[in-house]
Amino acid sequence: MTGFASLGSGSRGNGTLVEIGGELVLVDCGFTLKQAERRLQRLDVRPGDLSAILVTHEHSDHSSGVAALAHKYALPVFASYGTLKVCSQALTGTAFDSHGAFAIGGVVVRPVIVPHDAREPTQFVFEHNRVRIGVVSDLGQVTPFVTAQFSDCAGLMMESNYDRNMLMGGRYPESIKRRIAGNLGHLSNEQAAAFLGDIGHPELRVVVGHVSEQNNHPELLQEWFEPLRAKVRMLDFATQDEGASWVQIDDAGNSRGLFSEYVSQTAR
Ligand SMILES: [Zn+2]
Ligand SMILES: [Zn+2]
Repeated sequence: MTGFASLGSGSRGNGTLVEIGGELVLVDCGFTLKQAERRLQRLDVRPGDLSAILVTHEHSDHSSGVAALAHKYALPVFASYGTLKVCSQALTGTAFDSHGAFAIGGVVVRPVIVPHDAREPTQFVFEHNRVRIGVVSDLGQVTPFVTAQFSDCAGLMMESNYDRNMLMGGRYPESIKRRIAGNLGHLSNEQAAAFLGDIGHPELRVVVGHVSEQNNHPELLQEWFEPLRAKVRMLDFATQDEGASWVQIDDAGNSRGLFSEYVSQTAR
């Protein structure tokens, strides 16, 4: 199977499963051990079957549960040098160069450096047989590099954190508002929708998550993302409590790479 799923997504904990090339990778774990086990079970995954846990950055909603899960099930952990350095002492793992790809089995993992207020935050693109699945959250702005890296994905888990008017008119202290809306904070609905508008294509299956419970609303998400539904193959939203169930990517025949090839061949 090739696909992805969410254990839960939001400021109280994140975890994304990516299954590709015979590997089953968990990106981040911001849940207690018991919660992580329960959420994995809900997605029909035995923790011992995970190939590895990858950590995007040290913020607790992404890293707090990694050490306990990795330790109990003897799972390898990968994170950037900066992330590993500032994560708690209990977390041991293998550091990767965030400027270069590395392999987990036959899967190519491409770290993508993002602008976020952490030591060395990276998001990921997983690639096997020209099928690409991307995970991108916790970024204050979409850089041209980010757009380039996540274009051509067959599956994408992406953030749409806050509604600008709700955040600015809300009760958060000014300093927190500036942090969230800043270039090293999170993506607004507007920024996220523009990003998806840029990279969306008819074979893309996308799940939108890391939605703020204080500064966003399902109706506002609908408003921003409904117009984009026609541009992609599938669009869904992940929640904090339920996450998102498995999104299956078809065999390579329906991947974007081969789709483009087909289009260019038939155009000739
Ligand atoms: Zn986060
Ligand atoms: Zn963060």
